[in-house]
Amino acid sequence: MDLNMYCHALPKVELHAHLNGSLSIRTLKKLYELQNPDGLENLEFKDVNSLKESFEEFKLAHSLTNSPKAIYIAACDVIQEFAEENVIYLELRSTPREVEGLMTKDEYTEAIIKAIKTCETKCSIIVKYLVSVDRRHGLQVAEENIDLAIELQKKYPKYVVGLDLSGDPTEGDVFLNLLEKSRDAGLRIAAHCAEVPNEVEIMDILNFRPERLGHCVCIHPSLNGSHKLFQRLLELKIPVELCLSSNVKTKSVPTYSHHQFKYLYKVGHPICICTDDKGVFRTTLSKEFELVASHFDLKNTDLKEICKLSVKYSFATDEEKKCLLQIIKNFN
Ligand code: 5GP
Repeated sequence: MDLNMYCHALPKVELHAHLNGSLSIRTLKKLYELQNPDGLENLEFKDVNSLKESFEEFKLAHSLTNSPKAIYIAACDVIQEFAEENVIYLELRSTPREVEGLMTKDEYTEAIIKAIKTCETKCSIIVKYLVSVDRRHGLQVAEENIDLAIELQKKYPKYVVGLDLSGDPTEGDVFLNLLEKSRDAGLRIAAHCAEVPNEVEIMDILNFRPERLGHCVCIHPSLNGSHKLFQRLLELKIPVELCLSSNVKTKSVPTYSHHQFKYLYKVGHPICICTDDKGVFRTTLSKEFELVASHFDLKNTDLKEICKLSVKYSFATDEEKKCLLQIIKNFN
């Protein structure tokens, strides 16, 4: 089997996918038609060349996912697309959003849960929801979303398993005191970390010890980090969600071969391979595995091992982890 076929067929685990960044062009067009039944299609899809541009791109998806129906369609499509490329476990994250007159935050999150339930019966995939807190939206909104996440977890413990700290890393704050509250309530925390250089903030996030970290670009000294930060990350052994296309396309790292994957993988630090925003970055999880294999000379057995370890770092239950591991072990 060639690399392309192997990466597609491999039973994979996706731990870092933002709903509105994961919408395919097909889904965006479908949502556009839902909003403009008689209108001519007037959509422009641009390639992203910086972190700022990626945040601009989310605005298009947000303008189209402005009702519970649109969120439901969006979530169903994203889950189905991951399932079609043999992703067997998906943690989908999304920021609860209200749209005046059209949708409340409760309706937003209920639409995601409904989509997960629908797909669970139709596709062979386990899906969990991480409620996102956008650092740019300020303390009050963060508190509101954390309270909502805690309530949702009580109502849907099978599906709502954690909190994601995300949003434009050049703006806002990281609300670590608030995150403590959700941790006390039993929610696991996946925090974006070190997307831009900021030694003090990065050290604060590391010392908070989230269950997982996203990106961790500016940690290694060769990528605008420092020996101190890199050593601290290695010491803490917190699994890092690595998103190669996202980091290269936003120019957070200069090329694939410069990606922090090489430093972390070499020393055996826990990592998983993820898409981040498969729509915005025009990728798939299979492609990300192909990239990692071709740029860092990994064998099929190494890729399979990454999938097995990703199960370990996931927020699935022990029972679910056992089943997922069995599926991966049985794959040849
Ligand atoms: P949503 O939460 O609306 O479903 O997905 C889009 C949102 O995810 C963005 O508005 C942003 O807050 C967050 N997001 C997506 N990709 C990234 C990323 O690469 N870095 C950070 N920090 N946040 C992101």
